[in-house]
Amino acid sequence: MNPTRDSRILVINVGSSSLKWSVTQLPAGIVLAKAEAAIGKGEVGPLVDSISESGIDAIGHRVVHGGEQFRAATRIDETMLSALEALSPLAPLHNPPALEGIRAARARWPGVPQVAVFDTAFHLEMPAHASTYAVPETWRAAGVRRYGFHGTSHKYVMEHVAATLGVAASGLRIISCHLGNGASICAIENGHSVDTSMGMTPLEGLVMGTRSGDIDPGIVAHVHRTLGLGIDEIEHALYHGSGLAGLSGLGKDAREIEAAAAKGVAQAQLALEVYAYRARKYIGAYAAAMGGVDVLAFTGGIGENSAAMRARICVRLEFLGIRLDPQANERLKLEGFELAAIHEESAATGVFVTQAREQWMIAQETARLLETEKLHG
Ligand code: ADP
Repeated sequence: MNPTRDSRILVINVGSSSLKWSVTQLPAGIVLAKAEAAIGKGEVGPLVDSISESGIDAIGHRVVHGGEQFRAATRIDETMLSALEALSPLAPLHNPPALEGIRAARARWPGVPQVAVFDTAFHLEMPAHASTYAVPETWRAAGVRRYGFHGTSHKYVMEHVAATLGVAASGLRIISCHLGNGASICAIENGHSVDTSMGMTPLEGLVMGTRSGDIDPGIVAHVHRTLGLGIDEIEHALYHGSGLAGLSGLGKDAREIEAAAAKGVAQAQLALEVYAYRARKYIGAYAAAMGGVDVLAFTGGIGENSAAMRARICVRLEFLGIRLDPQANERLKLEGFELAAIHEESAATGVFVTQAREQWMIAQETARLLETEKLHG
């Protein structure tokens, strides 16, 4: 159900290093105001306090980790907040700043309904064979399982693809590639996430801006023993000193790495090859998981803007019916929220590019929940 009533939704998205907020007018989807700021420790509250927007009907908060408990967007109250606080050990870098944002917003707009929208929710129905790590029972009993993230973005891609192609999501096998600073791939079958590359934490899977993605877990013990690194140093290096930045030595900005690679800098070329190869392997794996693929979709800063990376990822995927139209790919410049095709007309599998719209989706989910509550309350 889409929201029908005219409303202004403030969306607050507190990441591990930045706070983005926006005010969206629904159902039209017009963004009335937006801003972004870097955050350090203890800076979320004052930043939320400084948002001067008025006439807000509801507030939607992005929360990275909803554990096994939060299966959909959820109205925020004190009981819910206690349950959410208990999940912080699952996402120590992401959930505490989001909670700080929620607390500040409740104090700043006391009468305004607030909703939490979870990155994990879309993936919670993943089959057990995809969500289970082969680790001891005591670990699994302690909550060690695959959760997956970027669910809001992957769900938007699914809805957008289905609506644009005029096909029910239940009739599609979609592989959605969200390639931003964080990056993940999702296999979507019959309208559900059936596998995704991030796992218990947003560290698993693809090569990212500064995160390693998949590594042999044996490396953790090895660098501890041989380099004398402590567990916090290892975690920090995997989150902040790895990925494109760690490989290229040039920072995390894919544009600069592309420019250096074009000039022949070997480390930059290797970084891009490792990135593309990992993504291609996941696409192959997810096509196998779903018994085929109908649509491959790219989104996020790199997915939307880097024709070179889309082309690098799609080589050797012809056996899946994936054939890019090189000119359509090169020339593509997204103008708005269109779903742009970049495949050859005769290709069996559609390849599309579209803008990531997490903030808008959070506004939608917030409004949908409040309307449903009204209908049933
Ligand atoms: P976040 O995950 O923080 O929201 P974005 O989705 O904005 O990040 O993606 C940021 C990434 O997109 C950066 O690596 C940036 O270099 C890359 N990017 C943006 N524009 C381009 C471009 N024209 N070509 C290649 N990469 C790009």
